Amino acid sequence: MVFYRKYRPQKIDELDNSEVREKLTAFLAKKSSIHALLFTGPKGLGKTSAARIVAKAVNCEKLRQKSKGKSQKSVLEPCNKCAQCVSITNGTNIDVLEIDGASNRGIDEIRDLREKVRLSPAGAHKKIYIIDEVHMLTTEAFNALLKTLEEPPNHVVFILCTTEPHKVPATIVSRCFHIVFKRATMDELIRSFLRIAKQEKISIDKDALSAISDLSDGSFRDGVKILEEIHSGIGNRKITKEIVEKKFQISNLSSYISGMFRLLTEKDVKGSLEMVGKMTEQGIDMKFFLEQLILKMHELLLINVGVVKDKEPEASLSLDEIKELTELFVRASSQLKFAVLPQMPLEMAIVEWCIGAEVAHENFPVRNAGKNLPEIPKSDGANANRENFVSFPRQDIFAQLIAKVKPHNHSAAGLLRGCILKNFDGKKLEIEAKFKFHKEKLEDVRVRTLIEKVIEEITGKKVKMSVLLRG
Ligand SMILES: [Zn+2]
Repeated sequence: MVFYRKYRPQKIDELDNSEVREKLTAFLAKKSSIHALLFTGPKGLGKTSAARIVAKAVNCEKLRQKSKGKSQKSVLEPCNKCAQCVSITNGTNIDVLEIDGASNRGIDEIRDLREKVRLSPAGAHKKIYIIDEVHMLTTEAFNALLKTLEEPPNHVVFILCTTEPHKVPATIVSRCFHIVFKRATMDELIRSFLRIAKQEKISIDKDALSAISDLSDGSFRDGVKILEEIHSGIGNRKITKEIVEKKFQISNLSSYISGMFRLLTEKDVKGSLEMVGKMTEQGIDMKFFLEQLILKMHELLLINVGVVKDKEPEASLSLDEIKELTELFVRASSQLKFAVLPQMPLEMAIVEWCIGAEVAHENFPVRNAGKNLPEIPKSDGANANRENFVSFPRQDIFAQLIAKVKPHNHSAAGLLRGCILKNFDGKKLEIEAKFKFHKEKLEDVRVRTLIEKVIEEITGKKVKMSVLLRG
């Protein structure tokens, strides 16, 4: 089992974030009339784990016995042994419901939920509704939910989780006990890495722990993944700072980052692309590299506007340039998921930055793309590079298509994700579906119209879509 899942916190004390621990303890100690909690914060900080712990603390049979007795004092941790605790941990407790807000966002689903909320719990003390990604609910669904929150049955606790709190209506927020999950501090990260290292009998020195917490950007999940990756690579040897640095090429990386900024400031497309080629050969993780570039851009921004004063900027760029380049990097980073080769999104961002958007986007049909572009640097991977480079805009379009269809129609975006872009010549878009059922769905007139409209928005051209069946 992967560490992150294996060491998912099971009690309040195991939660990584100290402020969250304090607030939850306060909430549970009150045995209050509050029927809704709101957990907000970035992914990977343990919101779902905390929600399950609350479900257990509310329903734990041992705790409930204790609270009836004399010892009212402050034992709030679930026992993790009674039938209620165990079934909640296993996800089989029928009174604890985890609902994905993204796929249950409509009024009908929430109405259905309101009906069921009224029924008493089957075996637990209280029914717990954990609604993940609650910001995805439609306005009507939020209104329906609000009515329930205004007059909640006594036997229900709602736990609403979201990464985007600004999208949750204030009327909902005001009815919740709000707990903010912040990015972890270095001490908090190290505390949770140590908890795992101890149980897995991993020996690791202090500097290595700091190095991993630097790499994990405030996310426990990312940090734990890094720890696991390093551990599985070296077996029982002690993890040292050197091992961490070697694995993630940290020293190499910082020279690549400053080198990349120099080349980009000079708009040296050839040099920049050569550098990407070299990094690819060395196996540097492009996701990580792009993240580091974005962090650097953030630092540049703060220096530029005078918020940060005591640092030398890595590159001399104007505020507009910082904005443009940041947008390019962020876009490249979001395209990584769809990229056939991981270096392609960054390469496209470089070309767009150095030569301009027209060249990067107006080169349809695709086979002519090479014409307008500067010669691709010859390196060991030169041929491969050229091919990726030319075919990239197609994948770029497909990725954009999926991203732009998504807000209009989630399931259509999901269908597209399962398909392959077979051909696109600027007029005709050929998509290959794996299943007949998918093909039919995509050919549904509403879906087809949406896709064609979006692709016209992206390319500025009227495009006809056809769906082929693989086989
Ligand atoms: Zn229990």
